[in-house]
Amino acid sequence: MPVYTSEALILRTYKLGEADRIVVFLTRDRGKKRGVAKGARRARSRYMGALEPMTRAGVAYYEREQRELVRLNYVEPSRSPMAAAGRTAGAEAADSVLGALGHAGYFAELIDEWAPEAHADERLYRLGSSMVDALAAGAPIDRLARYFEYWLLRLQGVYPGIKICAGCGGSLDQGAVMPPREHLFICRGCGPSGSGTPVSAEGMHFLAASASVAPEGLQALPLAASSARQLETAHRRLMNLHLEKELKSARVLREMRHTR
Ligand SMILES: [Zn+2]
Repeated sequence: MPVYTSEALILRTYKLGEADRIVVFLTRDRGKKRGVAKGARRARSRYMGALEPMTRAGVAYYEREQRELVRLNYVEPSRSPMAAAGRTAGAEAADSVLGALGHAGYFAELIDEWAPEAHADERLYRLGSSMVDALAAGAPIDRLARYFEYWLLRLQGVYPGIKICAGCGGSLDQGAVMPPREHLFICRGCGPSGSGTPVSAEGMHFLAASASVAPEGLQALPLAASSARQLETAHRRLMNLHLEKELKSARVLREMRHTR
């Protein structure tokens, strides 16, 4: 049985039998894998705290011939969004930690949806890994989420142009509209008034800057809550089109916001 070691991102787990878990993880070098973590649900398991979504870890696993499921040997966490919890204190901080953990689940679910099985995607891995660092460092969560969606869709080659109106070729600097039932950006002049998803000038600037800024730079990139909501809606439309469904974690995050 060949043994592989790699750096990986934990995406999700589910129960297997009485005491075990199946772990879905994205390796840097060999793409997405599913592995059995023996005894992971026992009280003093060696996997304790290592299998939260978006934990970055060193993993070792065995591959078995003719089997899709690998056998995990160890998972050594190196960084986790839980680090945000130890760093801060107070009620506002507790809110931001909840936000970070909720979004860790959302990011992990999106990567899981988009990562092909057992096919290495170095750029997707690097994007996910940079999200772990940003979450652990307490990055502004709304901006980070819109940034992540933008890059994920861009890496899949499905993000529409953000510079030039698809209708008249004019600039989108002053804001844009994603028309109903279409998945591209047009200028306000070409947009049917009152319909579609508007994106403010600030939102378009945020997208343009996101193309060249690392997640650490998001702190200095302005994005008002109203602009963030517009981008969230536009991104949800793009993702629903390509995934042909809405993610459970995206719905949960929206409901969390409404109940505050
Ligand atoms: Zn136009």
